[in-house]
Amino acid sequence: MPELVIIGSGLAGASVASYVREKDPNIGITLFTKDQYVAYSPRDISFVLSGDITSFEDLMMHDFAYYKDKSIDLRTNTEVTAIDIENNSIIVEGEKRAYGHLVIATGVAHDIPQIPGIDKNGVFFIKSIEDGKKIKEAMKNATNAVVAGADPTTLEITSALITSGINTTMVAPSPYLLPGYLDPDMTTIVQNKLESLGAKVITGSPLGSINGPEHVEFVTVGKEIIPADLVIISHGTKPNVGLAKQAGIKIGETGGIQVAPSMRMAKSASVYAAGGCVEVAHHITARPTLSMLGGTAVQQARVVAENVCGGDAIFAPAVNPVVSVIAGLQVGSVGLTSYAAKQAGLVPTEGKAHGLTRAHCYPGGKKICAKLLFAEERLIGAQLISEEGVKERIDALSFMIKSGATCGQLRHIETCYAPPVSSVVDILTLALDALER
Ligand SMILES: Cc1cc2nc3c(=O)[nH]c(=O)nc-3n(C[C@H](O)[C@H](O)[C@H](O)COP(=O)(O)OP(=O)(O)OC[C@H]3O[C@@H](n4cnc5c(N)ncnc54)[C@H](O)[C@@H]3O)c2cc1C
Repeated sequence: MPELVIIGSGLAGASVASYVREKDPNIGITLFTKDQYVAYSPRDISFVLSGDITSFEDLMMHDFAYYKDKSIDLRTNTEVTAIDIENNSIIVEGEKRAYGHLVIATGVAHDIPQIPGIDKNGVFFIKSIEDGKKIKEAMKNATNAVVAGADPTTLEITSALITSGINTTMVAPSPYLLPGYLDPDMTTIVQNKLESLGAKVITGSPLGSINGPEHVEFVTVGKEIIPADLVIISHGTKPNVGLAKQAGIKIGETGGIQVAPSMRMAKSASVYAAGGCVEVAHHITARPTLSMLGGTAVQQARVVAENVCGGDAIFAPAVNPVVSVIAGLQVGSVGLTSYAAKQAGLVPTEGKAHGLTRAHCYPGGKKICAKLLFAEERLIGAQLISEEGVKERIDALSFMIKSGATCGQLRHIETCYAPPVSSVVDILTLALDALER
């Protein structure tokens, strides 16, 4: 029987291979990747740069022996150059190869911004482990760094550079940090933290030029000249859909591959796509959205695997929970921000509160700030910042949003209490109190 062919071995593709193998010990599985490494999230790279994770090799979920042991034919450094849907085949290394099921998991592509001097030595992107290794090497001799972008990875890299003793300037083209994740009042907490550690943060201006004879020596931002011997550009990701487009597969309005909730293509029921390259429905707006997140990539992989093995699974509309750890601060968000809610035609109301993560009498409590957003009584978004206790609450809020929880229903939540891990009145309750006021 023609086998399962997977293009891409990031978290999405590699997880499809593992889940299918768990369900079916006999199906032939071939996993192609043009990279050298397998099954990791590029966002983990900043934690090797910070030294929290000791080696880039540790980022892979499984070592190469795992794939051999599971009879998954892993082909690294091998690019698939075409898909022929009509003939159920792909072209790889100039040869035609038939598939029974095909999974497109080609992830994200990186826009190279048109900045004069972008090709100077000392300028890096953050796409792969290979990039991470080059940056780690360059950090050894760097005195002044510039990081361009405003997403969680940009901020995590900035924090890694500062803690490594490198003078760092963050240049965010957007008016505030973490747009799409936080409201401006919440990002101020994160910006203040980075600045308190010595980072210079410029918002609302893109990098103008990168200058130096061969190696970068300084960059310009507006009229400002900033010395830099290391520049890292971390923005500009989009779904990597070139191969799918060439094959006549439908690309949606967000630029991602259009899939049904079963993650199948309309064009062929034996072709699936998952991960950073697809567009899915948003739970609140019901509009197409990109969900370029590690967690959703793995969840989509589970759906694909189930269906490849004859099941009837669906990927439910996304709420996109995200957590980042920036200079010791856990920054979490889920659902819509106020801006995104207004863009979707909603009128958000908010409850925002500050509290502590532990009982007032228990040592070591951290400040925590929570913001809950509602529209027409329904919870539509949440943002939390603290040194502890963020991820678990964001996960719970993710479920609440997906369940259509209303403000009235949240009032009935019973929260547990023990002095070392919580305050007797939880921060979410305080945020609801603020909403009612
Ligand atoms: C800079 C950055 C920051 C991120 N930050 C976050 C974050 O804060 N939180 C979060 O949850 N997620 C984050 N992510 C996203 C997360 O890492 C991905 O969504 C997740 O890893 C799933 O990716 P994927 O498997 O779809 O694709 P990727 O990990 O991009 O893998 C794509 C795979 O496709 C292969 N490929 C592509 N084209 C071909 C071809 N023609 N032939 C063969 N192989 C091909 C590549 O070699 C690679 O193996 C970030 C990603 C990036 C790049």
